[in-house]
Amino acid sequence: MTLLIKNVKAIDPRHKLSDGVDVFVRDGKIAKVGKQLDVKADETLDGKGQTLVPGFIDLHVHFREPGGGHKETVATGARAALKGGFVGAVSMPNTQPAADNAAIVEFILKRAREAEFNIFPCGALSKGREGKEISAMLELKNAGCVAVSDDGNYLRNPLVARRAFEYASQVGLIVMSHVEIPELTKGGVMNEGYVSTVMGLKGMPAVSEVIAVATDIELAKMTEARLHISHLSSGAALEKIKRARSEGLQITCEVTPHHLALTENALKTYDTNFKMNPPLRTEEDRQAMLQGVLDGSIDVIATDHAPHQFEEKDQEFELAPFGVIGLETAFAVSYTELSQKAGPAALEILIDRMAITPANILGLGQFNEIAEGSAANFTLLDLNAKWTISKEDFASKSKNSCFLGREVRGRVVATVCNGKLYRWNTHPVASGAVTVQSGCHSGEGRNLSAKGGLAFGGKTSKQDASLRWHDTHPERLPGATPL
Ligand SMILES: [Zn+2]
Ligand SMILES: [Zn+2]
Repeated sequence: MTLLIKNVKAIDPRHKLSDGVDVFVRDGKIAKVGKQLDVKADETLDGKGQTLVPGFIDLHVHFREPGGGHKETVATGARAALKGGFVGAVSMPNTQPAADNAAIVEFILKRAREAEFNIFPCGALSKGREGKEISAMLELKNAGCVAVSDDGNYLRNPLVARRAFEYASQVGLIVMSHVEIPELTKGGVMNEGYVSTVMGLKGMPAVSEVIAVATDIELAKMTEARLHISHLSSGAALEKIKRARSEGLQITCEVTPHHLALTENALKTYDTNFKMNPPLRTEEDRQAMLQGVLDGSIDVIATDHAPHQFEEKDQEFELAPFGVIGLETAFAVSYTELSQKAGPAALEILIDRMAITPANILGLGQFNEIAEGSAANFTLLDLNAKWTISKEDFASKSKNSCFLGREVRGRVVATVCNGKLYRWNTHPVASGAVTVQSGCHSGEGRNLSAKGGLAFGGKTSKQDASLRWHDTHPERLPGATPL
């Protein structure tokens, strides 16, 4: 299978690339990058007006399998990721049962292979994520884990935490920490402050995050664990991280697009799609998060993609589960927010925070470089497209987005993952806006989903309209429509 992207603006800050290059992919690798390549390919794509960037890697997703397949499967999660321009993701271990042993990790990796997607599993930090006994980390590492976390829970017992950090350090696993002091947040549903008081809802104070970050920093100093702070939400906690880094600690952190774009004020609608943990905080915190992404003190943008079904979210605020989906909106939301602050520089910053730094943290080498010999994992963007985020567009099995109806700029038009091309259909509508519809095709007719979903019969034609497809499952995979 060969693929040629012609005349595209390619950007990879790790390499000097000129405007208007051709990128030739053969057998899953970038075989050639250059001006007007004289090569024949099975499939050719005109990249004019588009920007080709390293494929994104999400350090924090919940794909729910095993145990939560009604919310998301690895296959549907992978599809949502691909549609968002992601070529890899770190899966969190709070599945049912928890990913605290090799069998579960191997199952997730098998599902990932079936979905033709790159999952880097994060195993549990403690057995069953219960915080009582450390997990079998060597077994997890040998099964393919890159990190350990009790995400959803914070490992509260400092002695167990110390042992877990020590073991992770010895085994060479990153500790990804969900930073929250449960005694301070118990029963809380949103940020604690003026807005929660006015709304009469129980709050979760930012100091909970600050104390947990400070504790983990001290444990990381003591144990030499490689610490990565998940979904940072408060400016005060970021200050702790900056201080630790200035003192020489190797520590990284991530922020979600929703913490860059929204504040606690969004909850005034009582819409449970704004209920997430950590909660949306103040405008001051949001500005601190944006500034952190711009100046690099926040290393990574990760989605914390947390699918829940409509019925689960559609209940009283106190009862609805925490979490929102985010893979398919991450780039556009982040690009829209950062462009307002940094102008054209926003793109290179985003490439770093969404593609290069995540690859570096995972030690992935040439996984997503735009260079000859690298694996073909890249994303094609239309930076000028304006579109409105709509429920109908999601490939994810769940629709619990906090950005429904939001106008954003910048779209993923195609993703190449492990050398395979996925094109996302777009068509302009009135008022100059663009809505997203997705479809997908590869060079060969093949079944893309592990269980049910879509099968693309017939050969791919250069004419999108002639692309043949059909359902193999009565319940069509959401978000996928014929090109
Ligand atoms: Zn978490
Ligand atoms: Zn999470």
